Amino acid sequence: MAIKKLSAEKLKHYEEIILKELRESGAYIENLNKDQSIGARESSGDLSSYSYHQADQGSDTNLMEQNVMMMEGTRDKIRLLNDAMRRIADETYGVCEMCGEYIQETRLEVIPYATYCVSCKEKSEDKKRRQKR
Ligand SMILES: [Zn+2]
Repeated sequence: MAIKKLSAEKLKHYEEIILKELRESGAYIENLNKDQSIGARESSGDLSSYSYHQADQGSDTNLMEQNVMMMEGTRDKIRLLNDAMRRIADETYGVCEMCGEYIQETRLEVIPYATYCVSCKEKSEDKKRRQKR
């Protein structure tokens, strides 16, 4: 089987999309970190107001948990984006890892870190669904 690869022009195009998403994700995590360190300072400072705010504690925790989940999701995304950058350097980017066919360009525009084409992705999700049952 001949090894497929995208043209240098297209690789460059997707590289730009990936770098842009990496920048955005990095900025997003930075913002969350800032929010959390401010929150931590405020809550550690004044202990006398603690009991008054206990009722609010639940929602604070939920917000924190949400932030942590968002942060983990973004970290995952950054990891996937970095993997995609490696594939661009290897010139294996844009080819489905399962069937070796080109991944649809419309799909790469939306999910630049996709490693499967649409039909393989669907197949792997079908399998997952069946395993759950
Ligand atoms: Zn495929």
